[in-house]
Amino acid sequence: MRVVPPALDDPADTAVDDPAVDDAGAVVDGTDAPSRPVRAARARKPTVDAVCAAAVDLARAAAEEMAADAPEAGGVGEHLGVAPEGDRLVSHEFACTLRGYAGWRWVVVVGRAPRQKQATVVESALLPGPDALQAPTWVPWSERLRPGDLGVGDLLPPEPDDPRLAPGWTGGASPDLTDDDAAEVWELGLGRARVLSLAGRGDAAERWYAGDGGPLAPVAVAAPGQCSTCGFLAPLRGSLGQAVGVCANELSPRDGQVVALDYGCGAHSEAAVPRESVAPAPPVLDELGIEVVAVGVAQPAVIEESAADDAERTPSDAPAAPAEG
Ligand code: SF4
Repeated sequence: MRVVPPALDDPADTAVDDPAVDDAGAVVDGTDAPSRPVRAARARKPTVDAVCAAAVDLARAAAEEMAADAPEAGGVGEHLGVAPEGDRLVSHEFACTLRGYAGWRWVVVVGRAPRQKQATVVESALLPGPDALQAPTWVPWSERLRPGDLGVGDLLPPEPDDPRLAPGWTGGASPDLTDDDAAEVWELGLGRARVLSLAGRGDAAERWYAGDGGPLAPVAVAAPGQCSTCGFLAPLRGSLGQAVGVCANELSPRDGQVVALDYGCGAHSEAAVPRESVAPAPPVLDELGIEVVAVGVAQPAVIEESAADDAERTPSDAPAAPAEG
């Protein structure tokens, strides 16, 4: 049996274990010998292997085999080029002429073993080029949801670790909890498995304050007063009530919605509106006055029957003579 010496250009054959290096770049080999600095290995740029680069027909055959699964014939266009992928490893690129795949490329990687003069196909794929038409990056539905997306009958349970929620106090199954206690617990806002966390309250307050119910809305800027002094404001319980409340004026544009305490609108309960009636201004077009205009007396027209009209009258038009008995 002939023993083949390892190839000098094969990095796998010539690789040696990297020595341990300390923070200062000195070799730490466990002996008492003085340490010596180590230079970092320089990365070697791969070159195009001539045998693999010449295997264009082999690569094209592999690309056409892939394209055979397409619903239309052909699909493999011109050879676009060769690029080195590693030692004795290159990739051939062919244009994809399939409809709907503009800018895509058939990529076939061809390689050969050390000291072999024949290349073989390593892998092949259809990959997008730099100008390829591609679908948008996939985004999970939970990240695509936007306010208003939830429809009738849809379910959107929050995550178990939703930072907007915090464990609540339900009282458990305590036998000491009477019905009156349960009612008081409910009035205090307790009795729920989870409640708004500090982060959840903060998010909501910031969102509402910066929205259409905030103090910077045009309606609020022109308002005669703020919601904090309006009788139609329904206060909120808890820390949120320090910043926002609910408007209960059906004539307000924010009726039934959260408003900031320094929001306001023209329907403020204490808006100063003059109550006395105002005399109407005189009409521009006078439709009430009567203007007398002198005109001549009109003479009735006299119509005389002419003899010609009598001649034209037919016997049937004449009154019938009374019949003799
Ligand atoms: S009526 Fe106007 S001022 Fe009063 S609470 Fe509603 S939005 Fe605020």
